[in-house]
Amino acid sequence: RTLIETENLTYTYPNGPAALAGVSLRIEAGSKTAIVGPNGAGKSTLLLMFNGMLRPDRGEIRFAGRPIAYDNRSLRDLRRRVGFVFQNPDLQIIAPTVEADVAFGPLNLGLPPDAVRKAVRDALGYVGLQGYERRPPHHLSGGEKKRVAIAGILAMEPDVLVFDEPTNTLDPASAEEVMELLDELASSGRTVLISTHDVELAYRWADSAILMERGRILARGSPEEVFSDP
Ligand code: ADP
Ligand code: ADP
Repeated sequence: RTLIETENLTYTYPNGPAALAGVSLRIEAGSKTAIVGPNGAGKSTLLLMFNGMLRPDRGEIRFAGRPIAYDNRSLRDLRRRVGFVFQNPDLQIIAPTVEADVAFGPLNLGLPPDAVRKAVRDALGYVGLQGYERRPPHHLSGGEKKRVAIAGILAMEPDVLVFDEPTNTLDPASAEEVMELLDELASSGRTVLISTHDVELAYRWADSAILMERGRILARGSPEEVFSDP
């Protein structure tokens, strides 16, 4: 089943280059998809469109069969269903304690206090940070901050989790932990989408790969198909 489908997306930043130059793709529900390409290929730009943070100049994005709409109510609904984890967790973590940070999303959704507490507890347990509730996030390690950011997204129970360069700022051990977490998320039925410049990582982790360069898709398919030499 196709969950996200794009048709001929184009996007040019104000005073900038053409970041997307006609991108058509499909993301299958429950897949582990990696968007792979060098710096500047347009990966982040594309990902930001999946939860409506950027709107294409031209083209269409369908989520669960329906074109994304850009009124406030539709965007709020879309952003609950498509969670976005930024490359740099410092941009995403906003509250003075881990608990308050993870609670931010569910509070924003208007959940009652009991449900918020449960969502926070479940999400922190999932990422292995139970007991961190009162800690100030900014004193945590890079890997721990990343997991706080992931917990904050999970607490909203999204169908899709989008990770922009999930391991870029992490040491190898934390990177490995985060990728295992992404595996578990996919095993539990969520759709997981990452961008990466790391072909090795995509090859090891993804079941579906999309190769991008200069705002275009060069190849897509299984990692074996996409990355084997012709
Ligand atoms: P990637 O994620 O693959 O590194 P990006 O989507 O970040 O690629 O960038 C695609 C192109 O758009 C690059 O040329 C980049 O410099 C440019 N770009 C990205 N963000 C902005 C921005 N906010 N303003 C202007 N140009 C941008
Ligand atoms: P990424 O590959 O994840 O976009 P970057 O380090 O390229 O990471 O970009 C970090 C931030 O800077 C992003 O918010 C991106 O939109 C912005 N950015 C990237 N390229 C440009 C650019 N040429 N001009 C202005 N902003 C940019």
